[in-house]
Amino acid sequence: MSRTSKEYIIMAMAFGAAFAISPFATMRIIKSEWIIALVDSSLVLGFLILGVYVYLTRKTQYTAIILSILSLGGMCTVIYIKGPSLIYWAYPTMVGMYFVLAPRTAVFLCLLAAAILAPLLAKHLETSMFMAIVMTLMVNNAFAYIFAMGQIRQRDQLALLVRTDPLTNAGNRRAFDEKLDDVIANVKRSLQPISLVLIDVDHFKRINDNFGHAAGDKVLVNLVKLINARIRETDTMYRLGGEEFVVLLTGADLMSAERISEEIRLLIESAEWLDAQKITISLGTAEYISGETASNWLTRADTALYEAKNSGRNKVCLAK
Ligand code: GH3
Ligand code: MG
Ligand code: MG
Repeated sequence: MSRTSKEYIIMAMAFGAAFAISPFATMRIIKSEWIIALVDSSLVLGFLILGVYVYLTRKTQYTAIILSILSLGGMCTVIYIKGPSLIYWAYPTMVGMYFVLAPRTAVFLCLLAAAILAPLLAKHLETSMFMAIVMTLMVNNAFAYIFAMGQIRQRDQLALLVRTDPLTNAGNRRAFDEKLDDVIANVKRSLQPISLVLIDVDHFKRINDNFGHAAGDKVLVNLVKLINARIRETDTMYRLGGEEFVVLLTGADLMSAERISEEIRLLIESAEWLDAQKITISLGTAEYISGETASNWLTRADTALYEAKNSGRNKVCLAK
């Protein structure tokens, strides 16, 4: 599997910090400033170990927190040793936290670091300078927080978009495949039965031919609306492509899945469609059998759907 962007960010920050601090560590050693030389060298070593650790293990959850504590802790220590003239480091260090942590955690740790620095700054600086530094640190964090929240919102919107069928707003094939993997991974633990229903509109080509493609589109949109309104909150519907859909029924064994499939079939058959035209669907229903693969489960449902089509359409057939 390829590396995640979070891995790259943590490695870039860890190696970047080690690279940025090492000239100072060298300078302190040359100048025999032993205490700060020790702090700087420890930070360089710490960041290097962290970077290599992420490179080798690919773990990001705890390493992000360690990186943040090392960065903010190191920054505070250095400022306490050398005085407020090193406050410049606080700005990039704090912004960096929003790259690797959840915005709330980043705000919390940065404000904590600011609170730790405040007494030292107040002691050494005149009031106007102290106020300026406190305010610019706050503004710095506010901007970083707003930007990070915007990024998260965009990421979530994008994640939703790539999993949604633009015509019907049902989940798309990608969303279904992910859900299927998830369901199969959890089915043993949940001990609940689960069934899927493959749905294909009968003679949909005729609807397009008789009423036009746009009218066909409307039928698909309304079909999804009708079925979504009928199934439970925990059940999910996806468009597999064209006029083919699938509904996942959680907690439903084959018997209840058959009953729900029959309800859906009747719902579509008895709904009001264009020009009083009747629209019907064929359904293939299959309960998950412990241990089978996703593709086996789908194939069984597909065979049942094929049987429904071949035995006259507008029917529910159950998988063997
Ligand atoms: P059957 O009962 O055997 O399923 O017959 P059918 O006509 O539904 O089957 P077929 O798979 O031959 O035709 C499906 C049609 O669905 C063909 C295609 O033009 C139409 N179709 C696929 N995607 C869309 C779409 O997004 N919008 C519209 N309006 N039509 C679509
Ligand atoms: Mg069809
Ligand atoms: Mg089809």
